Amino acid sequence: MIKRAIVVGGSISGLFAAALLRRKGWQADVFERVDVELKGRGAGIVSHPELLDILDESGAGTTDLGVHVSDRVLFDREGNVIKHRHFPQILTSWDRLQNLARRVQPEGTYHLNHNLVGFEQDANGVAVRFENGRIEKGDMLVAADGFRSIVRNILVPQVQPLYAGYVIWRSVVEEADLDPATHAAVFEKFAFFLEPGHEVVGYPIAGQNNDLRPGKRRYNFVWYRTINEKRLEDMLTDATGRMHAISIPPPLVRPDVVQEMRNKAETFMAKPLLSVLHTVKSAFFTPIYDLASPSMAFGRIALIGDAAFVGRPHVGLGVTKGAADAKALADAIASSGDDVDGGLRAFEEKRRPIGDLVVAKGRELGAFLDEKGARGHANGIDEHHQDELLRETAADSFLHQRTAREEAQDGV
Ligand SMILES: Cc1cc2nc3c(=O)[nH]c(=O)nc-3n(C[C@H](O)[C@H](O)[C@H](O)COP(=O)(O)OP(=O)(O)OC[C@H]3O[C@@H](n4cnc5c(N)ncnc54)[C@H](O)[C@@H]3O)c2cc1C
Repeated sequence: MIKRAIVVGGSISGLFAAALLRRKGWQADVFERVDVELKGRGAGIVSHPELLDILDESGAGTTDLGVHVSDRVLFDREGNVIKHRHFPQILTSWDRLQNLARRVQPEGTYHLNHNLVGFEQDANGVAVRFENGRIEKGDMLVAADGFRSIVRNILVPQVQPLYAGYVIWRSVVEEADLDPATHAAVFEKFAFFLEPGHEVVGYPIAGQNNDLRPGKRRYNFVWYRTINEKRLEDMLTDATGRMHAISIPPPLVRPDVVQEMRNKAETFMAKPLLSVLHTVKSAFFTPIYDLASPSMAFGRIALIGDAAFVGRPHVGLGVTKGAADAKALADAIASSGDDVDGGLRAFEEKRRPIGDLVVAKGRELGAFLDEKGARGHANGIDEHHQDELLRETAADSFLHQRTAREEAQDGV
């Protein structure tokens, strides 16, 4: 009999899981809490070769994936390039990936407005309850419900996000809004600026509706900044005095918090990136957290993507990791035939070490940004560290080094 997966979470990881499981002969339905098609999350996403392979394998393809850049540069305050590294990459956007993976879901298999509120499982399968009263039964539940996963919270409530000691301000600006000098300095490059307690990164991404034409693209701007917990509580408090746990919805960030950010930038930021910030119409911040689940398989339930592990954005691997979790799950389940439990165990064995590595690498790359790190680099970010950040930010080489090591250990 055809087996059925209930996939909860209709973002990147859930879409890949459903598409790849179907290719292995499973039936898969995706249930998403939000009641309208997901779009407009706007974030720039760095792609990696593994993601391109999975896009092809899932049927989503890589057509017009994003903007090709070939170089990374590090600015000083005046905007002089003080370091340069050749590093070809395709920079895409969350919207584009969502769109590619969404359109391969067959009619009637993607269900909006389904908020999981509970589940039961036994040796034969799962029953999943949604807020609207619907109950769906299947052979496996794939929890792709993100960083705040309800499934994970029910299974392992002790696993909670750990604040990393800094926040990220994010925005996307229109290419056409950049003045010619700024455009020449920053566009078609992956640009960095480093100061004690600060990291500013910018790169081009596709424009609205995935427009890749020069002049129609956008520029992704991010600024990591050390913020102690007391100040964070204030930043997470809206104008009515309500403090939001974990993160604050962008429209509720107080104007004085945004103004302080802009004022601070004037005091130190590299001129080309400051000029980008001047064109920013709305910026929002997210506190940076680490999150690692002790397990990814719980009987007939798989946790994948951000629901299982969240590495800090420096690793630039969230989407690739979610897609690779989905692929490993589909492969393991297919290889285990009727033994779904065995397939889930094999999936966990393969992917949990990767999740741990991604979280550890994110910590390593961001260590200079927490209060202790900022104090330790009070006299400036030394050249060795600058080189390391240019080489290892949003790079997946550390995962391949692991594979090579493992193969050596196995005598391959
Ligand atoms: C600043 C920043 C920069 C980033 N840069 C990169 C980058 O360069 N490269 C990269 O690969 N990644 C990057 N990421 C990470 C990337 O965006 C995430 O890793 C990725 O979106 C995770 O996908 P996901 O499907 O696992 O979870 P999510 O995208 O969080 O999706 C979870 C989905 O589940 C739904 N859901 C939640 N609860 C329920 C429920 N109870 N019932 C039904 N549905 C539910 C949600 O509505 C949501 O649609 C970045 C993240 C940040 C914050």
